[in-house]
Amino acid sequence: MSAARLPPAPRAPQTARTRTCPHCKATILESASVCPGCRHHLRFDPVAAQREAVSRTAMRIEGTIQGPTPAVPCEYCVVIAIRDEQGREVHRQVVGVGALQPAERRGFTLSVDIVPPPGPATPRRG
Ligand SMILES: [Zn+2]
Repeated sequence: MSAARLPPAPRAPQTARTRTCPHCKATILESASVCPGCRHHLRFDPVAAQREAVSRTAMRIEGTIQGPTPAVPCEYCVVIAIRDEQGREVHRQVVGVGALQPAERRGFTLSVDIVPPPGPATPRRG
């Protein structure tokens, strides 16, 4: 007996369409109307604004580190890795490095926002 058929999955792009933020040069979703990195408004797009309005934060992790004991300065390196369902790394990026003095602290926040897939491309009115 064969497995039950799954309902058709919603059509989703294999690779997100991206562009470069003109302000901070981060790679962002092409459909974004606000850069998630520098928070600059990029354009007024009512469709993109509607998609962003229904986006949700699927994961958010916050943490703080403190300078080490014994009291010696140290350096830190923040690395983000994205893995697929088999655990294979599909992306790895150093997002920041810095130094930490013994009395200093640094807080870190990692968030993953889920945005609905873009609708069919609409012809631009010119
Ligand atoms: Zn930006």
